[in-house]
Amino acid sequence: MITEHFDTHLTARPVNDDYRLGTEAYTDEQRTAVLAKLEGYLGGQRERLLGYQVNLSLDGHAALGRFLGYHINNIGDPFVDSNYSLHSRWLERAVLEHYARLWHAPLPEDPASPGNEDGWGYVLSMGSTEGNLYAMWNARDYLDGNALVRDEVSGDASCRTSYLRAKHPDDNPNAYMPVAFFSQETHYSHIKAMRVLDIPTFYDLGGSLYPGECPIDVAGTGMQTYNGWPLGGVPTTGGDEGPGTVDVDALVALVDFFAAKGHPVLVNFNIGSVFKGAYDDVQGACERLRPVFERHGLVDRAVRFDPDDPTRVSIRNGYWIHVDGALGGAYAPYLEKARDSGLIETAPPVFDFRIPEVSSIVTSGHKYPGAPVPTGIYMSRAGSKLRPPSDPAVVSSPDSTFAGSRSGFASLAMWNHLAQFSEEQQVRQAAEVLRIAEYTAERLRRLSEQLRERGEPWAEDGIEVGHGDHALSVWFQQPRAEITQKYSLACVPLNLGGLRHDYSHVYVMPHVTQELIDELLEDLAKPGAFDRSADKDAQRPPLPHQR
Ligand SMILES: *Cc1c(COP(=O)(O)O)cnc(C)c1O
Repeated sequence: MITEHFDTHLTARPVNDDYRLGTEAYTDEQRTAVLAKLEGYLGGQRERLLGYQVNLSLDGHAALGRFLGYHINNIGDPFVDSNYSLHSRWLERAVLEHYARLWHAPLPEDPASPGNEDGWGYVLSMGSTEGNLYAMWNARDYLDGNALVRDEVSGDASCRTSYLRAKHPDDNPNAYMPVAFFSQETHYSHIKAMRVLDIPTFYDLGGSLYPGECPIDVAGTGMQTYNGWPLGGVPTTGGDEGPGTVDVDALVALVDFFAAKGHPVLVNFNIGSVFKGAYDDVQGACERLRPVFERHGLVDRAVRFDPDDPTRVSIRNGYWIHVDGALGGAYAPYLEKARDSGLIETAPPVFDFRIPEVSSIVTSGHKYPGAPVPTGIYMSRAGSKLRPPSDPAVVSSPDSTFAGSRSGFASLAMWNHLAQFSEEQQVRQAAEVLRIAEYTAERLRRLSEQLRERGEPWAEDGIEVGHGDHALSVWFQQPRAEITQKYSLACVPLNLGGLRHDYSHVYVMPHVTQELIDELLEDLAKPGAFDRSADKDAQRPPLPHQR
C-alpha cells in the first residue's frame, strides 16, 4: 500500500542474457540495438545519481570519441618518452603541472635532474587505489632501508635484480620496520595496500607484541579491540557520531609509542574521507608530530648500506606522511582560494606540499574533477622516489610507475576536462558545490525535525543527519530500497555505542543541482520513506568496523 507513493518504475536493468557472446558474431544492427539497451539504462540512472562521489558533468568529453581509434599508451615514466610513439605524455605532463601548482610542489626545470624537494608524479590508470598502493610501496622502500633512485648503488644491486637494503643497526632491530597509522575512517584500499605490501598496522603489531599497553583509551568508543588496541585504525574525534576527522591526540600518542620503540612511521591522512567526506587536520597534526619525530631520531637519519664504509649512506627521514585526497585533493585547494577571495568564510585545513613533512598526495580524476574513466594523480617528492626493481630496455623509459601499460586516454580525458575551466570558474564551482551540500544538510535536518514531530513510524526519533565542516557528504538514516535505488544512494552501517545503525549518504558533486536535492527530499518526506521492513538486507548482522 505504502509502496504506491514511490516511483518503482526504475530504468530497466540490463540482464546478462542480453549480452552473451557466442560463437557467432553479432551483426552491426544487433550490436547497436543491444548497446542501446545499456545506454538507455545508464542514461536513466545518471539523471539521479546522488550517492557516490563521481562527477557526471561530462558533456565536454563527447568529442574524445575520435581518440578511441588509437591505442594511446603512456607506458614508462611520464617525463621520459618511450619508443612506443602513440602516447599522450605532453598532456599528462600538463596535468601534472596543474596539480603541482595546486598542491604547491615545485616542478624541476629539467625532469632528468630534479631537486629532492621537487614534485614528481604520474597520471594513474586506476583511481586512488593505485595511487595509495604506489605511495605505500614507495613509503615502505623509503622506510625499510632500501636504496632509492637517488642513492648510488654498485655491484650486484646495480642491475636491480636484487634490492640494496641496509641492515638495522645493532642497537635498534626495529630501525627498518615501518608501522602504519591511519584513522578508522580510512578507505579500504589502505588495508588492501597493507596486505599486498605486508606492512604491519599499529594495531596488528600493538595487539600481538604489546598486549594491554595501548597508550590510548578506547573504552566507550564502541570500537572493537585486539588486546586493548583499536581494530580498524586511529579513533576519529567523537567516534562514529563525530565528523570523521582523525583524533590528533590519539594519533600522536600512538606514533610516539612506536617511535620510542625505534620504528619508522607511515601515516595516512584523509582529505575528503570515504564516507563522511572529512578533512584531517594535516597541518596541525604534522606540527604535533614534528617534535615526536625529532625526539626519536626520525629526522634526517642515516641509512647505512655498509657499516664499514661511511660513504655508503643515504640520509632520509624515518617517517612518510601520505595524504589520501581521493576526493578532496581535487577541490579543497579551490575552497582555500574561495575563502581568500571572500566567497566563503572558512576552508578545510592545509594538506599539501607546503607542509614539509608531506611526502605524497593522491587524488582521483573521476571523482570530483570529471574524467569519464577511472584515473587519478599521484605525486611525491622526487628525492624520495623508490628504486624500480628493473629497468626494461624494451620500454626505453624508466619503469617508475605501478603499471606497465598505462592509460594514455586517462591523461587525455584529464587534460580535456581541466582545459575547459579557468581557475576562477573552478573556485566558483567549488564554492557552489559546498553551498549545495550545506543546503542538503539543512533540508535533511528540517525533515528530521518534521518526522519526529509527526511521529513518523520508522523515523520517530528523526533521521540522524550528519554533516562535517566543508564536507560534500551528508549522511542520514537509510531509507527504503526504492529510494536508495532511484538515487543510487550508498548504504553504510555505522556502529553507535555498540549498536548497528544503517546510513545512506548523498555526495554533492558538480552535476548535482538543488532541484535534484529537492526531488530527493520530496521522496524522503512521503509516509513510509524510512520503512525498510520489506528490504531484503534490513536484518544483516553487524559488520566489523571497516568502510
Ligand atoms: C574512492 C576513494 C579511494 C579509492 O579511489 P578509487 O579511485 O576508487 O580507486 C581511496 N580513498 C578515498 C578516501 C576514496 O574516497
